[in-house]
Amino acid sequence: MLKSIRAALAMSVITLTAMGASPAFAAPLKVVASFTIIADFAKNVGGDRIDVTTIVGPDGDAHVYEPSPADAVAMAKADIVLVNGLHFEGFLQRLVDASATKASIVTLTKGVTSIDFKPEFADADAAEGAGTGGGKTVTDPHAFQSIANAKIYVKNIAEAFCAADADGCVSYQTNAAAYTKKLDAVEGEVKAAIASIPEAKRVVITSHDAFGYFEHEYGLTFLAPQGISTDSEPSAADVAKLVTQVKQDKAAAIFVENITNPRLIEQIASETSIKVGGTLYSDALSQPDGPASTYIDMMHNNIRQIKGAILGS
Ligand SMILES: [Zn+2]
Repeated sequence: MLKSIRAALAMSVITLTAMGASPAFAAPLKVVASFTIIADFAKNVGGDRIDVTTIVGPDGDAHVYEPSPADAVAMAKADIVLVNGLHFEGFLQRLVDASATKASIVTLTKGVTSIDFKPEFADADAAEGAGTGGGKTVTDPHAFQSIANAKIYVKNIAEAFCAADADGCVSYQTNAAAYTKKLDAVEGEVKAAIASIPEAKRVVITSHDAFGYFEHEYGLTFLAPQGISTDSEPSAADVAKLVTQVKQDKAAAIFVENITNPRLIEQIASETSIKVGGTLYSDALSQPDGPASTYIDMMHNNIRQIKGAILGS
């Protein structure tokens, strides 16, 4: 009798231990990242405890992305969905609804001080009925272009992974701390590179306003004919205004972006006789064999291109 009670107790202890040790999900943790930069952060924090599926792939444009049935399947199977928020992913709500996912949707810009974008060139038609005598002010979603903000994304990812998989928490926190150190080092390099550029030359042109947070954090001015989204074409008047500014020697270099058609930038370059300085990675990483397949490589690539084009080195 006693023996069988002991046996039963032992069994239940084993069962409880097994339940405690096994997380509520079937390992690895199934993570969906809305785009490549977030996927890279997630891999750095999660290591081999997670399996990441990315919705908007390399060189993809999240502003105008149309989800596929495969995306809905990935969302339905996910334990955690990591998103930027600030309306960066216009497709998100439709995809959440279509997939009926039960995953927690984690917004990584939580805790970021958002900045407002007031169009200088683009969105002239959006000015109607908004604000005081200028373009309509909207929240800039590209917070990831500041490395200081990237560290907040990483912290939020580690917290979300810990909440979903307590057994992995020490590993997530350790990975996040190691990766944050690497981000600190890159941020130092970016600041040093900007400091090496004469102040009067710290103005460059890109196709859309993806670098507001970079500008705010590191003090390089970006002008763009297209606003903070790529979902509308700039007007001829906006482009002409930008060309005039460039001709008055107000920009030191001009770049195409990996996510947008280079046609407009090539047109401005030819009208102003400024040579296109290269490709900046704005809203997506490159293909794995490209120059910006990780966030850190993206920052290195962008600052190298900017410095090279302005200083001619
Ligand atoms: Zn963008």
